[in-house]
Amino acid sequence: MRVMQAKTKTYGLYVHVPFCERKCRYCSFYSVADHESVIDSYLDALEIQSRRLESKLPLKTLYIGGGTPSVLNLSQWHKLISIINKYFDTSCLTEATTEANPNSITHEHISFLKDNNISRVSLGIQSINDYELTVLGRVHDKTQALKAMELVNDSGLNLSCDLIFAIPGQTLRTWDKSLRTVMDYASHISTYQLTLEPDTPLAREFTNEELNSQGYALYRYSQYILPRHNFIQYEISSFAKENHECVHNLSYWNHDNIIALGPSAVGYIDGIRYSNPRTLNEYFSAAMNNFQDESFTHEELSPHERAIELAILSLRTRYGINRKDLLPEIERVLDSMPDDLFIKTPERISLSKRGMRLGNAIWSELIDL
Ligand code: SF4
Repeated sequence: MRVMQAKTKTYGLYVHVPFCERKCRYCSFYSVADHESVIDSYLDALEIQSRRLESKLPLKTLYIGGGTPSVLNLSQWHKLISIINKYFDTSCLTEATTEANPNSITHEHISFLKDNNISRVSLGIQSINDYELTVLGRVHDKTQALKAMELVNDSGLNLSCDLIFAIPGQTLRTWDKSLRTVMDYASHISTYQLTLEPDTPLAREFTNEELNSQGYALYRYSQYILPRHNFIQYEISSFAKENHECVHNLSYWNHDNIIALGPSAVGYIDGIRYSNPRTLNEYFSAAMNNFQDESFTHEELSPHERAIELAILSLRTRYGINRKDLLPEIERVLDSMPDDLFIKTPERISLSKRGMRLGNAIWSELIDL
């Protein structure tokens, strides 16, 4: 997609690295495990897509996600960073994050990231309990998780950790242990409830109803324990120490412009959402055709749809939404719900802790407006 005449001066850039060592048992993201022969072709295609963009768009944030970016070796990392530096203006970057898995991040990766202005590493820890990691089908164990957190922490890079709750067999005691352990290392923690998508191996053994009944109490416990250790809940799934919020993710929730590179990545430019070709094969075909507009799926949001989406996204965060950005019908629905779901001031509406726990019920009232 050609990005032209965008209203904002800076952009977020998301790069999807669709490779994993092995598929986790709950994963429905697009990533492939058999990747040795295709990473170099993927990087070539990424360069072709970057070349199609307006030259040197200034980036405010960079997020290299996946998949598992740490499966790239150092020379592949060199190529990836040189593509970004060649086609984008990185002089005003305020935050640059890469995701990594505990078993594949190395000292060499860390030195490279530091030398290339990556400021933040997001580790897919998920749990500190070996049984739970096995249920999830993760490739790492507790020892590797601890080593990886220590490695990132010692380097001085900012560390964010992802954790999953409502894992079959998980208890309040093991969830507490996972939370307390990552709190010792990280300045940012994301907590996600395990949700089983159809056709994943774990969905053949458990149902979402079973997980939901366990998840509510564990989420509530995170809301209790993390703030007591100075992790502020600034979004439904995100907790951070002061000034350690993820600026890139805040851009999504503010409807800021995000450029997306890589298969299955989704971008957003001035009210138009676009999706890149979904699979590697489709992405390679699009690269051979020099990424024509037809290579992408576009969805133009009407002003009404944008207002509803912005309300839902803004309400995910502790900053909430300015009443002057609310359509009257949205304000009416919010006003008709129980007061203890919200924190209301004359200017803004945001969710209370209870409101964050019941976010899905609130969104379902807004989506159909
Ligand atoms: S590491 Fe992440 S993207 Fe890869 S299979 Fe596991 S959950 Fe999916």
